[in-house]
Amino acid sequence: MSLNVGILSIQGDVQENLLSTRDALNELGIDGKVTDVKTPEEISQLDGLIIPGGESTTIGQLSLVNGSMKVLKEKIENGMPVLGICAGMIMLSKTANDRVVGKTDQPLLGILDIKLERNSFGRQPESFESNISMTSIDIPKFNGVFIRAPSISDVGSDIEVISKFNERIVAVKKGNVIATAFHPELTTDISLHKYFVNLVNTSKN
Ligand code: GLN
Repeated sequence: MSLNVGILSIQGDVQENLLSTRDALNELGIDGKVTDVKTPEEISQLDGLIIPGGESTTIGQLSLVNGSMKVLKEKIENGMPVLGICAGMIMLSKTANDRVVGKTDQPLLGILDIKLERNSFGRQPESFESNISMTSIDIPKFNGVFIRAPSISDVGSDIEVISKFNERIVAVKKGNVIATAFHPELTTDISLHKYFVNLVNTSKN
């Protein structure tokens, strides 16, 4: 059966994720389409979703206003695979504080029991790249692109840590939910997108 993968296109890094996910489907030889989605109707049709990086306060507020927040939460809680990237990781979290301004009271999906710090490595000028590893999901070497990235200081017992950088947690997994503080769509390596597409395929079939 053909897969329907969506990239949440409220705000943020949509195009790069569309391209990486299409490449992943092609390389894996899996039949499916990848589209940008933002309305509750579009989201309700999906087999899998990527919440891209961008600005989590904007993504949260706008998806609350257009009614998508509710359907996103329901779909993910019912098992739809989701990859949350940077702002997407923040959206998936239960608790997020900003490194500088502290509590922001932004709308969150509250799916992952993680304690997260926004902008943890500094602001835009402090963006950096570093080799990281995600051995538990068979990606031993990956180029992590960190842009105003969050980090996780504490996780609940149901959360699997899949990557750390400088003692800080930067990628986690819980069942069909994956979240990364770095941007896999900004590298030429599509192995994480392939891993995600495989997850969507297995969960549908
Ligand atoms: N710092 C941003 C936020 O808090 C996330 C940055 C990103 O997605 N690259 O939403």
